[in-house]
Amino acid sequence: MAKDYYQILGVDKKASKEDIKKAFRTLAHKYHPDKKGGDEAKFKEASEAYSILSDDKKRAQYDAYGQTFAQGGAPGGFDFSGFGAEGFEFNMDDLGDIFGGFSDIFGMGNRSRQARGRDISIDIELSFRESVFGVTRRVLITKDSTCSRCSGSGAEPGTKTKQCPTCNGKGQIVESRRSPFGTFSVSSTCTTCKGRRVIPEKPCSVCRGSGIERRQEEITVVVPPGLDDGQVIRMAALGEAISGGATGDLYVKVHVRPDRRFRKEGYNIVMDLPIKVTDALIGSSRTIEALDGNVEIKIPPLRSTDEILRIKGKGVPVGQGKRGDLLIRVRLEFPQKVSSEAKTLLEKLRKEGV
Ligand SMILES: [Zn+2]
Ligand SMILES: [Zn+2]
Repeated sequence: MAKDYYQILGVDKKASKEDIKKAFRTLAHKYHPDKKGGDEAKFKEASEAYSILSDDKKRAQYDAYGQTFAQGGAPGGFDFSGFGAEGFEFNMDDLGDIFGGFSDIFGMGNRSRQARGRDISIDIELSFRESVFGVTRRVLITKDSTCSRCSGSGAEPGTKTKQCPTCNGKGQIVESRRSPFGTFSVSSTCTTCKGRRVIPEKPCSVCRGSGIERRQEEITVVVPPGLDDGQVIRMAALGEAISGGATGDLYVKVHVRPDRRFRKEGYNIVMDLPIKVTDALIGSSRTIEALDGNVEIKIPPLRSTDEILRIKGKGVPVGQGKRGDLLIRVRLEFPQKVSSEAKTLLEKLRKEGV
């Protein structure tokens, strides 16, 4: 676990959303870099903790796995570095909510609040084998995407754009506000041009100038090896697009169908193998069907029941070509019937002291 977000905010693991918000508010006031005696590193750390713990989905992931899962960038590659490596996202709307009337004092009001498209959550079902080795899935999702005709500009291709008359091409509307601490300017994104500074002379015939088109898209989800049931893959910027803002993310929740023969224990795969009493006593060899092909195994004479045979490198891929092991749990299988001939032999064995 990289960082203890609960510890950073000084709250209990069971803290309510309200407690988390309160704790962050206190720390944000204390450490805000624009304040005298502020501490930017501490402020960022608290902000990161808050951005995870205030989001139900991210908090659940963090509680379960000690990180949030990120599948960054273009579909195809996956990156399991989690939140820390890619930096944290900060939702200015959250911040505004937290600071309430104080946002202007901290200079936050001068930064534009960027709108963000909705996140999308989907579920995919994997066979046990797919969950072990990973798989590539194509899914069809109907969502708001950047308009394919105008590439999001909102202008009919081949036509020009003109300066937005509402904001005079600034993209922002600036208002002065008075507060007990003085006058502050607050800017907000222009609603006419959505911050793009220009508007089309002739709106795009597909999106009617919005730059957004609702359509079905095929998305390639690369499921990495070794995921467990309930884990979530985050695919950045594959959620819903929004005009003049960042695209939301796509969250893919993985469901793994249980297997009749195999189960996972960490990076190892465990299976049961019924063997006969004679095999247990004098050993034997056997071909068994593992997840990825047949494996020849040698059963040595057993010293006890519940013995586990370890086949190295036939478990879950760990990365860099390494894999966990296949653990074969031996189960002694007694014969249903014993023939009179076998009985005679067993009597002899008894005399031998076996
Ligand atoms: Zn368009
Ligand atoms: Zn405008």
